Amino acid sequence: MSDLKRAHNFNPGPGVLPLEVLQQAQSELLDFKGTGMSVMEISHRSKEFEEVIQTAEADLRELLGIPANYKVMFLQGGATLQFTMLPMNLRASGSADYIVTGSWSKTAIKEAQKLGTARMAANTEAEGFNCIPAKLDLDPKAAYLHFTSNETIHGVEFFSEPTPPNGVPLVCDTSSNFISRPIDVSKYALLYAGAQKNAGPSGVTVVIVRDDMLERTPANLPVMLDYKTLAASGSLHNTPPSFAIYMVGLVFKWAKKLGGLAAVEKTNRIKAGLVYDAIDQSGGFYRGHAKPDARSLMNVPFRLPSEELEDTFAKEAKKNNLIGLKGHRSVGGMRASIYNAMDVAGTQELVRFMKEFQKKNG
Ligand SMILES: *Cc1c(COP(=O)(O)O)cnc(C)c1O
Repeated sequence: MSDLKRAHNFNPGPGVLPLEVLQQAQSELLDFKGTGMSVMEISHRSKEFEEVIQTAEADLRELLGIPANYKVMFLQGGATLQFTMLPMNLRASGSADYIVTGSWSKTAIKEAQKLGTARMAANTEAEGFNCIPAKLDLDPKAAYLHFTSNETIHGVEFFSEPTPPNGVPLVCDTSSNFISRPIDVSKYALLYAGAQKNAGPSGVTVVIVRDDMLERTPANLPVMLDYKTLAASGSLHNTPPSFAIYMVGLVFKWAKKLGGLAAVEKTNRIKAGLVYDAIDQSGGFYRGHAKPDARSLMNVPFRLPSEELEDTFAKEAKKNNLIGLKGHRSVGGMRASIYNAMDVAGTQELVRFMKEFQKKNG
């Protein structure tokens, strides 16, 4: 083990996975639970796989406190397919409201507008997507209100849910802060998250939906786009992404072992505090993108005094085994993604490097 090379991985997605989880997957790869086969090679109808998917669901229910009147689905097509499935299933001929706070919610509403009516309840693009909107313009008859709880590219996060008008279901894209802290699931009608940001490998998207929402699914939707059928089949209408489901299951177990989401949040706050302190104490050398009260605990975009310095920063960081720090081209600069599986030590390593880099170049 001593010569194992592991990067300090700040990639935005697919992102870092817990070493323990990877090691367990490795140890079970050739012979899963005495089957003499890997989990990728067994039938998705076998009792071994049934246990994998049922345990993953049970552990997620425990972690998030998901009430009994919600279904959990493990789907394919990424969070991006949910931009389409959601309005197809829940909007009927009505209009849906979207809070636009960054690239991902902007993409979500664009997809929803291809198939029907979706209006902006708020749009912070004029502010450069650096904040949570103070005021919402809400349609009391909206089919649902959609928001993106963490904007992965702009690094802005909601720390309390927006309040929809009475009777309007709240829907959330929680891809990049999924299982990063406790939430009250009962406030939501539907939540979805692509696993590869904070909960596993790419290939599976978790959808949590309240039972009454499934009554809205129109008849004759293509079956792979039909929440009602997919939920009724326990995500087994067709062959599911079995390896990805196995991996998210291991990540859920790992999060439980850490003490659940309250413990996970505590560590995430320590890590985010370290990086934001380094930015705030740099005398303006590092400049954070998000306004302080909207700062994401998961993705920290920041700029340096020049693009040239930003290029040098990325290159030298890489030499120091700090990987994935280049920001998204739409924001520029750097971005540190400090998902659940990034440890405090790795974050401290980044902060040490930031201080050293400033001393040399500031
Ligand atoms: C990455 C991301 C998406 C897109 O996810 P895919 O699984 O690649 O389709 C959507 N929303 C948010 C918030 C994301 O971070």
